[in-house]
Amino acid sequence: MANDEKVNVAIVSEGLQSHINPTLRFAKRLLSKGVNSVTIITTEVARDRMLKNNTPNPHSQIQFEFFSDGLSIDFDRNKDMKTFVDSLHSVGTKNLSTLITNLTKVQQNKYSCMIVDPLVYPAIDIAFDHGIPCALFWLQPCVLFSLCYRYFNNINSFPNLDDPNEKVILPGLPALDVSDVPSYMLPSAPSHLKQILVNMCKVLDKVKWVFAISFFELEEETVKSMDSLAPMYPIGPLVSEFMLGEEKEKINSQGNSILEWLDTRESSSVIYISFGTVILLSQEQVDNIALALKKSEKSFLWVVKGYENVLPQGFVEETKGRGLVVTWCEQEKVLLHPSVGCFVTHCGWNSMLETVVAGVPVIAYPKWLDQPASAKVIVKKFGNGVVVNYGEDRVASAEEMERCIKEVMEAPSAGEIKQRAIELKVAAKKALEENGSSGKNISQFVNELKNVP
Ligand code: UDP
Repeated sequence: MANDEKVNVAIVSEGLQSHINPTLRFAKRLLSKGVNSVTIITTEVARDRMLKNNTPNPHSQIQFEFFSDGLSIDFDRNKDMKTFVDSLHSVGTKNLSTLITNLTKVQQNKYSCMIVDPLVYPAIDIAFDHGIPCALFWLQPCVLFSLCYRYFNNINSFPNLDDPNEKVILPGLPALDVSDVPSYMLPSAPSHLKQILVNMCKVLDKVKWVFAISFFELEEETVKSMDSLAPMYPIGPLVSEFMLGEEKEKINSQGNSILEWLDTRESSSVIYISFGTVILLSQEQVDNIALALKKSEKSFLWVVKGYENVLPQGFVEETKGRGLVVTWCEQEKVLLHPSVGCFVTHCGWNSMLETVVAGVPVIAYPKWLDQPASAKVIVKKFGNGVVVNYGEDRVASAEEMERCIKEVMEAPSAGEIKQRAIELKVAAKKALEENGSSGKNISQFVNELKNVP
């Protein structure tokens, strides 16, 4: 391609908010490095949400194109994932193929690359058929990609995951127990999620780049270990511009009752507890956390989803003055608030990257999917927090929660843990600089598209 030719990139993304957010962030980074335009191809569900929320156009060089996943807009995709995924990969794929064919007929849409979200992996074949170079956009930790790749391609005789006593040994990482591996990978658990990964792995030979929202320094060993298999290029941490301080927007507590309450607390004194948007705690888990908080006598901010199991009777009154229970908070702002001392988290990948960027120590309380592996290869490895011990039922006792709170919030261990969290925060910000690992990965990719050596 001649240097003066325009570089247009298409990103095919599932319409879930948690997929559109990183897609937009990646698109903006590509534009900042010299890509001329980005077309985000996503589902009509995303269009509907953007219309309802009056979402402004995020960037003049970003266009949207939409296809139907074959279900009505009102269909609850989270509730019935199987129907959703089946429809997305049958009717949705046909619609997507027609859309891409129509788009590529127009000369100005000549795409230099099509970047594909794993949930819409059929787009890889479509791009390939159109002769468009293709990339994968991995939205989970790199370690999960490594696990899936090695398992579904049976690299180095992957251990038998039916045996709970097996250990998964990956280069440079602590040994993972079978219980650390996402259950949908297990042979005994045929599921639509597993099928996505199996099918995605089958078309990976058509993919030239695998981008990840992580950053090299966070998952160095994993990234290096993929070099000879399916090289990964981390381009993150792909958290919001606000978290990275790029919007120069200072946290303004005024009118935000949660931040105003945090303003009244001492520096690094508040335990922040949230288990993301999906996990529901069991009554036993709620009771144990409540008891540990009560005994700790520390300030806390606890996000208890409105429909979750109830707090023990009298808990709110007994902890009045030092505790705040809410059904939702703006987590990014909370994590950046100087009063927050630690984060009790399920280790969802977004929460993990956000706490790393904010430099907040964690108490890792993972449940499933990528969470147990993240707790092990990030928190245990870097020491920016502690991982709770629990049995097969994954319920941490009140005593164990108390122990973790003490370790992360009280001297002498707290200082060391905070230091580790700050080191990771510095590494995260550095990665995105022009000469940082992620900055360089994006520049190299754009230069490759421009054919600049
Ligand atoms: N989140 C938030 N407020 C809350 C709970 C969650 O802003 O009260 C955001 C959080 O900042 C993160 C996302 O929701 O960006 C949760 O994503 P994650 O991958 O951590 O967990 P999931 O919800 O997918 O399990």
